[in-house]
Amino acid sequence: HPFEQFKLNRQLINAIDDAGYEEPTPIQQQAVPLALAGHDVLGIAQTGTGKTAAFVLPLLMKIKYAHDEHPRALILAPTRELVIQITRAIEELSLYTDIRTVSLYGGTGPKAQIEAIRRGVDIVVSTPRRFMDIYLKGEITVKHIQTMVLDEADKMMDMGFMPQIRSLLEILPRKRQNLLFSATFHEKVERLSHEFLEFPMRVEV
Ligand code: AMP
Repeated sequence: HPFEQFKLNRQLINAIDDAGYEEPTPIQQQAVPLALAGHDVLGIAQTGTGKTAAFVLPLLMKIKYAHDEHPRALILAPTRELVIQITRAIEELSLYTDIRTVSLYGGTGPKAQIEAIRRGVDIVVSTPRRFMDIYLKGEITVKHIQTMVLDEADKMMDMGFMPQIRSLLEILPRKRQNLLFSATFHEKVERLSHEFLEFPMRVEV
């Protein structure tokens, strides 16, 4: 199996088969081994390249099973649509695990989202503002977060999310793995990558 080169577990290989992925895309080929090895990764890749699975697969390998009530990974994305799309990809690839994912975004009341968090969650996928809102209500414990992903970082910069991301970085544990994906690498993304990533490995397709 072409995905076995990554030493993924059986649950993930089965989900990959169900999804119909026959072989890793170029961004997956480059980013998955680096992320699995624990590096911070800067990935320059457009939508449609398979970039979501490039960070979701290593994340699912690291998290493995549901345990604890508090999230261990945080994925930030600029829009509600992207949050939903990433959550769908995680659900598809984690189908044979018991990993629990919650999506947080604005445009709707926080009540159902808070209830989902209270039931216990392993991975949170959120827009920056809604994550901060719910955190400030005291409804998210961040001290177990060991992996953070910023997806479509260029769009997040264009939408003015830098202040929210900065305040978020202050509340998260220092020791964590960081993955940053962006379609382009303009000046603001470069600045963000310096603040966010530690000795990153850069991959580009
Ligand atoms: P993304 O670039 O993450 O938005 O992914 C684009 C599409 O490619 C999604 O529909 C994925 O399900 C699909 N995809 C991701 N990885 C693979 C793969 N290795 N082989 C085939 N399709 C894939």
